Amino acid sequence: MKAPRFAYEKPQSLDAAIRLLADGGDGAKLIAGGQSLGPILNFRLAQPELLIDIRTLPELRTVRDEGDAVFLGAGTTHAAIEDGRVCDPTRGLLSAVARTIAYRAVRNRGTLGGSLAHADPAADWVNLMALLDAEIVARGPSGERRLHAAAFVRGPLTTDLAADEIITGVSVRKLSGRARWGQYKFNRKPGEFAEAIGGFVHDPELGMARALVGAIGDAPYVVADAMRLDEPAMHDAVSRAGFADGTYEHQIHFAALKRATAQARGA
Ligand SMILES: Cc1cc2nc3c(=O)[nH]c(=O)nc-3n(C[C@H](O)[C@H](O)[C@H](O)COP(=O)(O)OP(=O)(O)OC[C@H]3O[C@@H](n4cnc5c(N)ncnc54)[C@H](O)[C@@H]3O)c2cc1C
Repeated sequence: MKAPRFAYEKPQSLDAAIRLLADGGDGAKLIAGGQSLGPILNFRLAQPELLIDIRTLPELRTVRDEGDAVFLGAGTTHAAIEDGRVCDPTRGLLSAVARTIAYRAVRNRGTLGGSLAHADPAADWVNLMALLDAEIVARGPSGERRLHAAAFVRGPLTTDLAADEIITGVSVRKLSGRARWGQYKFNRKPGEFAEAIGGFVHDPELGMARALVGAIGDAPYVVADAMRLDEPAMHDAVSRAGFADGTYEHQIHFAALKRATAQARGA
């Protein structure tokens, strides 16, 4: 199928994009890399009257040092992170994850903000930003808000973002030199969405020990105090994430978490 007819605007500033989005109401939709929205339009699952192209907005390409964090603009592509063309405050975790997203052609166009706004439960940034306790920065007609990534996703394809807000970027805390991380993704073949994601980050200097049970068909499940996460506790975490003991889903999520934790601990 082909996308339905729509009007197209390419605003030259973030303020202009916000105005267009507010004025367009329910009929307006943002497009960034188009890697999720393109197929949705082609299948006519969404039929917007107006597409607002924000892909090249300079404000969304900004990367800046915020002291104890780095702000990565929403328009940062997966490929830019993979290639190290933008600063990685996580000592390699962001770039390691970026290179597992889809295929290079998708990574060249797909953006951080688009992925977070789309909120596929199996998407890599949705899960990783929750693990890292990152903040998602959004701007709308009434100003800027900072939202905790772990609470940003409410459920499949549903977020805390208001209809008239644009994600401008993500603020990711700088991990110290003593930080250790692990991340493990099960997918049927490279380039596909995850069946299960496990994650673990321990940074003694930040007092941070967090674990992730990700790609669970809902909002990511984070263990915020994972310092003493042993195997029985991992098992419980996967059960609390919604998987019945003994099922294939429980086993694969447990294995992902166990491998991520072992990687972080150098085991
Ligand atoms: C074949 C294939 C395989 C894939 N595999 C993976 C994978 O393994 N892991 C993974 O994580 N992802 C995967 N993806 C998805 C990919 O990462 C997309 O790039 C991403 O989900 C959407 O980013 P985008 O910039 O293309 O957004 P778009 O498709 O342009 O937009 C997606 C949605 O977000 C909204 N939006 C976009 N930008 C903003 C913003 N700044 N503020 C508010 N709303 C915004 C749009 O209105 C739309 O609703 C895959 C995609 C394809 C096509």
